[in-house]
Amino acid sequence: MVTRADIGVIGGSGFYSLLDDAEEIELATPYGPPSDVVTVGRIGSRSVAFIPRHGRDHRFPPHRIPYRANLWALRSLGVRQVLAPSAVGSLRAEYGPGAIVIPDQLVDRTSGRAQTYYDIDGAVHVSFADPYCPTGRSTAVATARAGGWETVDGGTLVVIEGPRFSTRAESQWFAGNGWSIVGMTGFPEALLARELALCYTSVSLVTDHDAGVEAGQGVTHDEVLEFFAQNVTRMRTLVSEAVQSLPEDRTCPCGSALDGIKLPFELP
Ligand SMILES: [Zn+2]
Repeated sequence: MVTRADIGVIGGSGFYSLLDDAEEIELATPYGPPSDVVTVGRIGSRSVAFIPRHGRDHRFPPHRIPYRANLWALRSLGVRQVLAPSAVGSLRAEYGPGAIVIPDQLVDRTSGRAQTYYDIDGAVHVSFADPYCPTGRSTAVATARAGGWETVDGGTLVVIEGPRFSTRAESQWFAGNGWSIVGMTGFPEALLARELALCYTSVSLVTDHDAGVEAGQGVTHDEVLEFFAQNVTRMRTLVSEAVQSLPEDRTCPCGSALDGIKLPFELP
């Protein structure tokens, strides 16, 4: 394979126009095809591979996204650092629509998703105490702040199974635990990146307050989509600038995630 990329972006639609000299690549993986063709191109001096998480026509709901294929495809192209923009609901009154949260913790409330590459030929236990790349996080925080975003450095992302939104009681329970934002796609994406020794950074755009925070009807799908559409250009700029600020060589622990572990197969 000739085409290579060193940074991966898994995001919503609207990111294609970021890439210069974009080339579309159809990839097969042991886990089936990724969500869509992978677009590989350049942003400044960096080579970037982009996958639309839900597919270009948004055909995959959060619980049906081929997460394993997506991360495997990125690694097979040479990607070692991944930025993952997504839409989230806020569990805190103090930040609402338009805030960028760069979480440093995650709570998995999904069920039934294929969440590991290592489900045959013995167990592989990776450390997931700190699910996100420290370098990617600080880069994203600095980039968002420089871009004038209200930026929250840290916080816990609760990933729910969906596709339904939370009940008011669930949402109040999440908030009562001190958690910050709620989404549907951050897991197993972050874990699969770790299992491939990739850097992974969530760039979460708050589109609404979750059901337990306000007295209203709770969020609707149309509201989320409309808000995301209004902000897509700003998000593109943010991701594009973060890509160019990521280091060429990794000094974070992510690349050592599998050191000393005997793997049942070779990584791409
Ligand atoms: Zn890292």
